[in-house]
Amino acid sequence: MNLHEYQAKELFREAGMAVNPGEVAGDPEQARALAERFGGNAVIKAQVHSGGRGKAGGVKLARSPEEAADHASAILGMEINGLVVGEVLVCPIEDIATEAYVGVLVDREGQCPVFMVSAEGGVDIEEVAATNPEAIHRVRVDPRYGLLPHQAYGLAARLYDDPGLVRQAARIVAQLYDVFEGNGASMAEINPLISTAGGRVVAIDAKMSIDDNELFRRPAVAALRDTASEDSADTRARDAGLSFVKLDGNVGCCVNGAGLAMATMDLVKYYGGEPANFLDIGGSSSPDKVVAALEIITSDPEVKVILFNIFGGITRCDDVARGIVAAVNRIGIDVPLVIRLTGTNEELAREILAEAGLAAVATMDEVVEQAVRLAR
Ligand code: GDP
Ligand code: MN
Repeated sequence: MNLHEYQAKELFREAGMAVNPGEVAGDPEQARALAERFGGNAVIKAQVHSGGRGKAGGVKLARSPEEAADHASAILGMEINGLVVGEVLVCPIEDIATEAYVGVLVDREGQCPVFMVSAEGGVDIEEVAATNPEAIHRVRVDPRYGLLPHQAYGLAARLYDDPGLVRQAARIVAQLYDVFEGNGASMAEINPLISTAGGRVVAIDAKMSIDDNELFRRPAVAALRDTASEDSADTRARDAGLSFVKLDGNVGCCVNGAGLAMATMDLVKYYGGEPANFLDIGGSSSPDKVVAALEIITSDPEVKVILFNIFGGITRCDDVARGIVAAVNRIGIDVPLVIRLTGTNEELAREILAEAGLAAVATMDEVVEQAVRLAR
């Protein structure tokens, strides 16, 4: 789950971090009023779950309340990387001397959090990573002990020479780890972390993703979810209790069990196809779940064929068959359906499908080969 900048900054502030002030506005008038309150100058920032807002024209400096209203009206409703801006964050303008990058994320290979810092922060950090990777310094954190003070100082010392700035940055680095760890984040990032001419170090941008599996025990964090900013397929899948991950191919997959779903995707690849999604309809599948799954899969315009692969253990094949027939009748599916089912109540399932003019094959190879052929 992604947080908006203003939400992440709120968590940063709770940890005591030096963050620039700011408030959210939903219309140009509110932006004007906030700019006035901040003394006339303001930076107007699109609140979308995307980086690179600056480059996309979603971050603008205003030198008067009128200009703040104008920028807000230009940015509200703007599309950034396919996401529509519904709110802007209005902040007083900071005087920037330097821009640094500080981030922490889960290092899957190292099975631990890893910090990344660079003195060359700002809007071009991706380019720094691509062209000058030595400018990014990495430190792995042992999750048993957390970020140790000497590690925080070591990271901060990569950003500044001045001891006063290093001390402030070390505090911020340590606070960032606390926020990351304490909220079940998979990523937390400050870019830029600025130093001012007056010698302060301040976080003026914030980006954070929370591990979805951490949310059940953190209701206050879960409440920060902004479903309006999320892909609607993800939201619908979550509401229906389905595990769903959208992918780039055209073979829609509907499978019971995560392991079988992975194996099915492997086989799609093996036969030269590309899965459009991972979808696990779960162990005990009611017909309603199957309908929800088919609605989600068919809402992807890339999908050219839908592949069912059901191994009936606890899942009853007749339940799935009823779901398929119900979905076909209810939503009308205009791409070919190929079905493999085997196991509990298989015979009954075949009868139900046959009555609706559908057929099922018995082996995975057969059904996947068919699906890949039809997707071409
Ligand atoms: P992003 O492009 O989505 O990462 O948005 P940022 O919040 O990082 O803003 C992009 C850039 O706008 C920053 O790197 C700064 O150069 C500039 N910027 C943002 N806030 C301020 C500010 O208060 N003062 C000044 N002078 N520049 C700012
Ligand atoms: Mn940024």
